[in-house]
Amino acid sequence: MSNRPERTFVEGFGRALAQGELHMVYQPKIRLDCGALTRLEALVRWDEPELGPVEPSRFVPLAEKHGLIGPLTEWGLRRTLNQWRAWRDQGLDTNVAFNISAVSLQRLDFPDLVERICNELDVPTERLVLELTEGATQPLIKLMDTLTRFRIKGIGLAIDDFGTGYSSLLQLRQLPFTEVKIDRQFIRDLPDAHDCCVIVRSIVDLAHGLGLTATAEGVETVEQLRYLRTIGCDVAQGYLIARPLEADALAGWTAEFDQRWPELTS
Ligand code: C2E
Ligand code: CA
Ligand code: CA
Repeated sequence: MSNRPERTFVEGFGRALAQGELHMVYQPKIRLDCGALTRLEALVRWDEPELGPVEPSRFVPLAEKHGLIGPLTEWGLRRTLNQWRAWRDQGLDTNVAFNISAVSLQRLDFPDLVERICNELDVPTERLVLELTEGATQPLIKLMDTLTRFRIKGIGLAIDDFGTGYSSLLQLRQLPFTEVKIDRQFIRDLPDAHDCCVIVRSIVDLAHGLGLTATAEGVETVEQLRYLRTIGCDVAQGYLIARPLEADALAGWTAEFDQRWPELTS
């Protein structure tokens, strides 16, 4: 897509939103103490008719630049919360995490919009966690008002890709986050790289010291998972556990993972 003019992108993306070329997939996060599903992170996909699947890292930044992130966010959030209700009706009691672009956070009324959508779709706000990227949200402290509004409404806040952006430890202390997601570049070389072990252990301790949930992303090997359990990391997500799933694949995955969990931890 990089060699196509951006104007073509804007037209194509408008069509994608209107004509249903976008869909959401959902990646499980599990509790490391017992293997139970704790929530699902919603990730957007674009099936472009000519190009095939286009990755979000290629089109989300362009949507931000061309004023299309608002419609994308609202569409994705509605889709995700509707899916939460469908799972609940099938007896799958879970929570959802949704990625928010820093651009959306510039709008002071954004927390009200999210709450309104939750109410409209009859989803308790406590079931939703928003994932924010520390690099993109810099300077975080300017968002204090907006972030506090989300927390007052009962919505959880995760700091995504932790360790790669600009945020200082002081900001982590001052801002009302509920979860820290340790970036997968620190997880990748566990447990062999001593420096990564030290960093990950420190972030887990830091998170716990501040009363936050520590989540490891990008968990791909059994050794990584076992190490994370030994240091008391709370939650894990990654290809070892599950790739992002189509909504209707969740029930099958749950049954399969329940069987696999004892092998992963023995
Ligand atoms: P992210 O929030 O850090 O999401 C995690 C990305 O890592 C996802 O890529 C996921 O498929 C991938 N991943 C998960 N487990 C593993 C693993 O074990 N190994 C490896 N190598 N990768 C893994 P994806 O779906 O391509 O999303 C990329 C980024 O695009 C996301 O990074 C997020 O920042 C953004 N994004 C995705 N969906 C949305 C959305 O609906 N709205 C916004 N604003 N941004 C989104
Ligand atoms: Ca995320
Ligand atoms: Ca991440």
